[in-house]
Amino acid sequence: MFAFLNRFVRKPARLDPGEAGRGGAVAATDKANLVPEPPEALAPHVVYPRVFGPRFEQIAVDLNLLSTGQAQALRQRAAGQGGYVEYLAPTFGLSSEQVQRVLAAQGFVVHVDARHYGTPRFLAWEAALRRLGATPQVRKASAQDLAALRRELANAGRLDDTDLQTLAKARQLIADAAAVGASDIHILVREDHTEVQIRIKGDLWTVASMSMRREEGERLTRSMYSGLATIKEDSYKALNFQNAQITGEALPGTGLTSVRIIRGPSFPVESGGGFLVARLQYRDLAAQSEGSPEVAKRLDLCTPKAPPGAFRLGEMGYTPLQVELVSRLMHRPMGAVIVTGPTGSGKTTTLYEYTRERARLLPHDRLITIEDPTEYPMNWAIQLVTDSKSFPQMLTKTLRMDPDVVLLGEIRDADAGEATLQAAATGHQVPTTLHVTDPFETFTRLMGMDHVRLSLEIICNHNLIIGLIAQRIVQMLCPHCSVPLDQASEQLPAYMLRALHTWGDLSGVRVRGTGCPHCDGKGIAGEQAVAEVVVTSEALMQDCIEHGVLVARRNHRRRAGSDKPMIAHAIDLVLAGRLDPRDAQRRVDAIPMRDEIDLPPDETSEVTP
Ligand SMILES: [Zn+2]
Ligand SMILES: [Zn+2]
Repeated sequence: MFAFLNRFVRKPARLDPGEAGRGGAVAATDKANLVPEPPEALAPHVVYPRVFGPRFEQIAVDLNLLSTGQAQALRQRAAGQGGYVEYLAPTFGLSSEQVQRVLAAQGFVVHVDARHYGTPRFLAWEAALRRLGATPQVRKASAQDLAALRRELANAGRLDDTDLQTLAKARQLIADAAAVGASDIHILVREDHTEVQIRIKGDLWTVASMSMRREEGERLTRSMYSGLATIKEDSYKALNFQNAQITGEALPGTGLTSVRIIRGPSFPVESGGGFLVARLQYRDLAAQSEGSPEVAKRLDLCTPKAPPGAFRLGEMGYTPLQVELVSRLMHRPMGAVIVTGPTGSGKTTTLYEYTRERARLLPHDRLITIEDPTEYPMNWAIQLVTDSKSFPQMLTKTLRMDPDVVLLGEIRDADAGEATLQAAATGHQVPTTLHVTDPFETFTRLMGMDHVRLSLEIICNHNLIIGLIAQRIVQMLCPHCSVPLDQASEQLPAYMLRALHTWGDLSGVRVRGTGCPHCDGKGIAGEQAVAEVVVTSEALMQDCIEHGVLVARRNHRRRAGSDKPMIAHAIDLVLAGRLDPRDAQRRVDAIPMRDEIDLPPDETSEVTP
């Protein structure tokens, strides 16, 4: 069984232009299989495989298209007719489609400089190859393409029929991008398709005319890295992050001095996902085209895909003021937005809701996510996966990938904290999470990670940390079986009742009942978020540095337009009879006396004396 399979799973002929025809390092058994060198005058103008690999008729037998006897007869007849095996094959019953299949399986392609195609020197060499049993597929190429192929072969050691077309496509893409004055090209290889985007005057646009299958995108990426780039750190390795550069000489007429490339794997890595970002460097401002309308039309530029659905924070329990504050944060071009909460607070869900809505509002921005592992597939983003210990290094890497927004799964340590602030300081928005119970604890927690690199003076900058979102999930009472407080079988503790009385009329308060069929006997029906949204200000940060976090928090909460603390929102739900006071205490915080809590003026004015 395996022997049978092996006949089909043959290795591609090893190609190595550096070693072509020399055979110095080749084992003796392979020597008979070596392709003879072309004459010296022709050698610089052809790119060809180093070894023959299986012959045409042998592959036809392997594919069950010919019997062994037929194969021998075909070979003998071809020997008498200049070795044109593939032209004689139809007389043995092969259709032209089957001939093409065999040639493709053989993959013996010879590229020749168009000016040397058909010359006596080339024809003599081709005839020599045929006498040795080869069926070369000859393709004409420009001198430039031959040079690129040689480079690609040196890197990949393997040649594909479509490589030249792909190289031409890659070069055309760069030329077109330059013609419309683009600053960047993004190639996003997804699970089932490839999307190409270009950035013009800060906005990303999808190049609809270059929408292609995943495999084509993979080839395009490989071709730009291996074929066009002249400076690179390594041969193409799909699973590595790699840098490369295409010099201006390879891109004549574009006005470009160089193109810097960063490429690597991205979600879904196991299905061949990857990205390539190319940054176009123009000779001078004048060389950056104002944009050719004809080229733009041909490229068919359209707005990048936005996430489906609508903003769910309101649905999740955020108040209208909170939704407005969060929306305000979204429109800020730079700064860290930190979602805080303990495990089980739903902070990750909120982080993604935030990021999705921002992508809906600003679809021309590049979003990159760094997670461990990928939580939600987002086919409008570049999603990178790394061990959370490597978040800081990965964040630094992404800054070279032309992002607008970088979602970082979590700030776990000082390095991640520092990288987040660096990303914010260099003009990026960074939505992330931090494991603290009170949003204002963010400052003390960060400082605790490294009191020098993350001192209050450094982190308390309202342009770097622009927003804090704190959140808890509370379980809502089943409306069918909850009971009014005064009919409850079990009274609330006296201290809780005393505190609750300071918040107003308790006639609407309800507590968990014994359960009913509607709630499967649980007494609760669904859950929702209770949150506090802090948009930082210069005054808040100044207070932090000069008077400490507690004073800063008090002053902030007393300012008009500020949000209330989470427990105040939870108490609103308690007074409305939707949340059991014990659940509020268990999931959010102890219920305080009203005068123990700092509230904005619009809230305090409602206090009933
Ligand atoms: Zn825009
Ligand atoms: Zn119920």
